[in-house]
Amino acid sequence: MNYYPDDIIEEVRLNNDLVEVVSEYVRLEKKGGGYFGLCPFHSEKTPSFHVEPVKQLYYCFGCNNGGNVFHFIMNIENLTFPDALRFLADRAGIVLPEPDDKEEQQRIKVRKRILEINRVAARFFYSCLATGKGSEALKYLRNRGLSNSIIKRFGIGYAPNEWDLLSNYLLKEGFDETILIQSGLSIKNKYDRLIDRFRGRIMFPIFDIRGNIVAFGGRVIDDSLPKYINSPETPCYSKGRELF
Ligand code: ZN
Repeated sequence: MNYYPDDIIEEVRLNNDLVEVVSEYVRLEKKGGGYFGLCPFHSEKTPSFHVEPVKQLYYCFGCNNGGNVFHFIMNIENLTFPDALRFLADRAGIVLPEPDDKEEQQRIKVRKRILEINRVAARFFYSCLATGKGSEALKYLRNRGLSNSIIKRFGIGYAPNEWDLLSNYLLKEGFDETILIQSGLSIKNKYDRLIDRFRGRIMFPIFDIRGNIVAFGGRVIDDSLPKYINSPETPCYSKGRELF
């Protein structure tokens, strides 16, 4: 399984000269067309570790460890291949592209879909605040000095105190059950019924630095508990990373 295209791997290899990389760990001495040193992978007193600068390969005649610059870094830094690739890319100042990998592409697709569903949900919450269902919440916000322009600017809304109002709305908007659950907006109750996570709460969108809504925080307007709940961790949202 290759995470990265071959030409990128080759570029990283060509930009990390094996003699230079090995010299950061092993004192090498030139002998003929190659270099010798004490092997870092087994204990020895006479050098049997050989680096071939033209072929960019190393080999130890004592312990048979050998390979190219990736093998050397994987062995000496105890890294997997993708980590060794990143290590050497950093060393050479090469920026790696997004991994060419199905799992990663799937993750990116889910992330995009969650941002879409969050945008639709935010509009829903915002419109609920303006209707009769949100009048108590609106009163609560006004009492705390929040003007209409603040409410609009921060996209503050209201999740009515009903079981599945949002879930049904989102399904009707063309989102499927999987993404409703992956986004954290809906949960399955113990009867296997899809219900809204946020009910009877003032809703605060949580934005990332690009202005995407990555999650929501919901606050009750009465004394019920819990006072605050947040979206769970999703591919878009890891707690403590985003700005409110
Ligand atoms: Zn060796």
